[in-house]
Amino acid sequence: MRSTAYTDPYLQWVPVAHADGCAADGWEVRTLERTGMPPGWDTRITVQVALRAVCRTCGTSYELAADTGWIDEETGGPEGPIIDVTTRATYGHLTRPRRVREYWLHAHGERLHRDPGSGYLGYYLTRSRRAPTTPDEVLGLVWSHINRAGNTKFAAATAAVSEAGRTLYAARRAERTWDSPTGAARWIATALVDGADDHPAAGS
Ligand SMILES: [Zn+2]
Repeated sequence: MRSTAYTDPYLQWVPVAHADGCAADGWEVRTLERTGMPPGWDTRITVQVALRAVCRTCGTSYELAADTGWIDEETGGPEGPIIDVTTRATYGHLTRPRRVREYWLHAHGERLHRDPGSGYLGYYLTRSRRAPTTPDEVLGLVWSHINRAGNTKFAAATAAVSEAGRTLYAARRAERTWDSPTGAARWIATALVDGADDHPAAGS
């Protein structure tokens, strides 16, 4: 199953723009799902989906439509992308940023466990409370992994931007991990202020 969870929720998505001068900031959003049978097939059902955002203040109607694959009644399973409906609880970029010292921690990716407090796949540390929209706004990276004992741990690194200015990478990695993303973020906050007592990443 494909999912938009694996895109960067801050840096790869662009906002749908209202017409110039429109004071509204929201959209009335509806989705459409339509099935059909392509010519020459008698077991395949195609699936089309669309999303429409309408602003009744400025009259803008934004529509995005795609063929998203098919369902094969003979082989059983669906083929191709399947639409994934998400909620605030599921993905990190829909949660509020967390204050860590003078910085802000923005979650991204899927929630790790059912428990709402269990953390998300990754985090960006920024100076602004506002979510980052360009790589140079990201000062630090926190990412989760499962250790050999089966426990969730969080790793940390200061962030750097590629020379082309488009790609983020880990500049200086912490040599230990933490049980919480905020613990990892505090290491980054210290590393940003005082780089003297940590060490450049060895190897990768
Ligand atoms: Zn509008």
